[in-house]
Amino acid sequence: MAEAKQKRMTRQKGVIYDVLCGTNSHPTAEWIYQEAQKQIADISLGTVYRNLHVLREEGKIIELNYGKGQSRFDADTHPHYHFVCSKCKQVLDFPTDTLPVSEQTIMSAPGVVHYHRFECYGICKDCLE
Ligand code: ZN
Ligand code: MN
Repeated sequence: MAEAKQKRMTRQKGVIYDVLCGTNSHPTAEWIYQEAQKQIADISLGTVYRNLHVLREEGKIIELNYGKGQSRFDADTHPHYHFVCSKCKQVLDFPTDTLPVSEQTIMSAPGVVHYHRFECYGICKDCLE
């Protein structure tokens, strides 16, 4: 691959990762695309999707799948849970001291668990006001 092209691809991936690291709003690919455009004007949505996929495969980010095209992304890969507001659709971090699913439960799974997900759905504090 030509060096210039390689360099551009590395930069695109870096910008996408930095955008995600700079927020805790669990954004969509569309939002990341808009932010990335501020730094790379001619970046495409397809490039953003491709790099998010690569970053996820590398274990650098988490994808929270909410159905077709509705995935949210999170640069925080530590085990933590989310609160989803049914009204404004915000995805908020939900700090817990203990994991609702214990290590022991995971050990008793009928296979090796690579990933598990726990979410609470409700109305966020902003929407309650
Ligand atoms: Zn809300
Ligand atoms: Mn999170």
